[in-house]
Formats: sequence, C-alpha cells, structure tokens
Amino acid sequence: MTFVSFGLSPALVCAADASGFSAPTPVQAQAIPAILRGADVLALAQTGSGKTAAFALPLLQRLQEGAPAAAPRRIRALVLVPTRELAAQVGEVLRRLAQGLPQPLKVAVVFGGVSINPQMMGLRGGADVVVATPGRLLDLVEHNALKLSHAGMLVLDEADRLLDLGFADELARVLALLPPRRQNLFFSATFAPAVRTLVEGLLREPLRVEI
Ligand code: AMP
Repeated sequence: MTFVSFGLSPALVCAADASGFSAPTPVQAQAIPAILRGADVLALAQTGSGKTAAFALPLLQRLQEGAPAAAPRRIRALVLVPTRELAAQVGEVLRRLAQGLPQPLKVAVVFGGVSINPQMMGLRGGADVVVATPGRLLDLVEHNALKLSHAGMLVLDEADRLLDLGFADELARVLALLPPRRQNLFFSATFAPAVRTLVEGLLREPLRVEI
C-alpha cells in the first residue's frame, strides 16, 4: 500500500515523502481513501497513530480540487482541537504538507491564551483552512474576523478531549455557523458516551476506522 495508490496528487505524495512518510500507517490506509471520496469518517485512533496526516493529506487534496482561491479567501475547512499545543502542532503539519502545492493554500492557526489582535491581522485576506480552539474561534467570529459559512469540511481532532474539557456548548455554537451540507471527520482516542452522542447526531453513515 502506498500513498500514490490512494490517488493523492504527486505534490502531496512528495510532501509526505519529504516528511519521512514512506508507507501509510493503518489509520491513514483506511481513512484517506474514504475522505478523498467525500465520506464522513469516525476514526478511533491514538496520538502516535499518524492520525494528523490521515486527515491533513486528503483535506489538502480536496481543497486543491475545489475552486481556486477567491480574494479574499473563504474558509473551506475547519479543524477544531482542544488545546493550543495541538493547534500549533496540527497547523505546522498542514503547512508543511501544503508546501509546494500547485495552488498555494493558506493555513491560519488560532487559539486562546494569547492576544487576539495578531490573529485578527493574520486572518485579513481570509484563509483556506483554519485550525482553532473553540472559544477563540467564536471570539474571532464575534469580531467579524472570520466567517464559517463556506467551511464544507469539519475535522474534530481529539473529539473526546474537546468534550472532556467542557467545550460542548462552544462546539454546538460553532456547528450552527457551518454549512449544513459538509464533510465531517471525527478523530477520537475513545468512543466515550458523549462522543457517541455527537457522532449519532452529526455523522451521515460514517466510515468507522478503528485500529
Ligand atoms: P500523530 O498520530 O498524527 O500525532 O503522528 C505521530 C507521528 O507519526 C508524527 O511524528 C508523524 O510525523 C509520524 N507519522 C505520521 N504518518 C507517518 C507515516 N506514514 N510514516 C511514518 N511516520 C509517520
């Protein structure tokens, strides 16, 4: 099994290679083809499984296939994460993999606990992908610094931790801002009851990946 056989573009295969990913991990082998064909996915996968690239590679490919960036760029994918550390980490992986794509993509990373102003400046001109913690994302929406009405892809990374950390209300408010027709990709280490409820309410016939 190789990244090429999944139908990933040469630029993304090259980026995966440059990151030292020669063969896909099990979660990548199962999730990437499903995400590329537009399915909802529930992946029960731990940190260390390669889960970040499992959503980052197909997400970038789908954005490449979509309409070229308008000015200002509209946010077409939202990655929600529970902590600022994870936001920074996921943002870095997306940026690294997006380097060298024929159609440059802008990845914005926003999280709480730091001044909002530089993040507002960073969102001027829009972005293609936003990686965010829920509270700061909502603050930025309230400041009219970003709009989510074109975010047709939603990733919840570490969904169980998002719920454990008490983000359920914020999450519901964010979901209400997204277009109803969208692709949902949920990654969680556990299938805790709160995660199950969320999955049952939001995912359409998801492919379930368990490793
Ligand atoms: P994650 O589960 O996303 O936190 O990734 C864990 C680690 O695995 C990271 O350091 C990645 O760079 C690395 N990784 C992800 N995919 C692969 C792959 N296909 N081959 C080798 N390493 C990988």
